[in-house]
Order: sequence, then structure tokens, then C-alpha cells
Amino acid sequence: MQARWWLIRPMQDRLNLPQRLRRKVWEVADAPEAPRFLRYNLGIPGNERADELAKEGAVEDQPENSVSFSEQKTIIKALMRPRTNRDDYHTTSREQQVNLIRLRTGHNRLNPHMNRKFKLAPSPTCACGQEDQTAEHILQRCPSLDEERKEVWPSPTPLQTKLYGSRQELEKTTTFITSAGLIV
Ligand SMILES: [Zn+2]
Repeated sequence: MQARWWLIRPMQDRLNLPQRLRRKVWEVADAPEAPRFLRYNLGIPGNERADELAKEGAVEDQPENSVSFSEQKTIIKALMRPRTNRDDYHTTSREQQVNLIRLRTGHNRLNPHMNRKFKLAPSPTCACGQEDQTAEHILQRCPSLDEERKEVWPSPTPLQTKLYGSRQELEKTTTFITSAGLIV
């Protein structure tokens, strides 16, 4: 609930959105990466979701100074739009973006998330047995990926660079994921 309430709350108040729609907007807006994550991971295109939410709002009893259906739609779309601070992440391909966002957020198919969140992996531990299969583990330490790692990064490179570096660095990261045969 910490995220951007100071931005969303006044907007909601000004627009006097119906209570049910306000809750939905919260759900969507509260997670900083939610829009992209949802679009790419769950296959829910943002616009469809925005339409859906706006339609739900439109059939509710409208408060006296409520905004129109199309205005609600615009607001929700704006809230769902990716944040405007742009790093090189935005210059990579969509497929690369998906992998990077998954590695950055931990919402991925690596064992810790699949185990704790979905109970789909027997344990959070990596197959190498050394520690949890986190993004940091596979990018920095997993001994079973040493060869692929050296191929892409001949000298040690900080995790920060691998996940948030220049376009060239980000592409190295996705190349590594592909060459290691990992599905994130
Ligand atoms: Zn490992």
C-alpha cells in the first residue's frame, strides 16, 4: 500500500470514482511493475483490463459529479502506463524486457518463486544444491553455469550492472539466460 498513494489518492478524490472502481485502481496501481508484469506474464493486455475496469465502474451508481466512462478509461490507462523514468531496459526487445523484469522483480519461474508462491517447485533450492535459485544466484554464483557465465562475462561483473546497466550489459544478461537454457 506504500506505492504512490500520494499520487493516486488525490486523483481518485477529484474524480470521485465509485468505491468499487477505486479499489480496483488500487489493486492495479499498487504494484510498481504490475502493468507490464500482468500483460506479459498473464497475457492480459492493459487496454482490455482498463476497458473492463472502466465498464465495471460505469454500470455502478454514479456519484453526482462522477466522471464519464471515457474519462475513467483515460485515468485508468494513465495509471497503468509504465513509469516514465527510462533506462536502457526500454530499448531492448520485448522478449528481453520480459526476462529482465522477471529477474529484477523475482516474479519469475525460478525455484524460490515457484515454490513459495505457487508450490510448483519442490524446493527453492537450485539444482546445484548450494543455495536458493535466485536471480543473483544464477547470474553471479551458480557453479553449474560457470562456463556460460565466463563466456558472456569474462571478468566479474556486479549484479547491478547485469540487471540495470547499459543496453549492452542488459543484452549480455539475456544472452546468458538463453545460452544457459534457463526459462525465467
Ligand atoms: Zn545453482
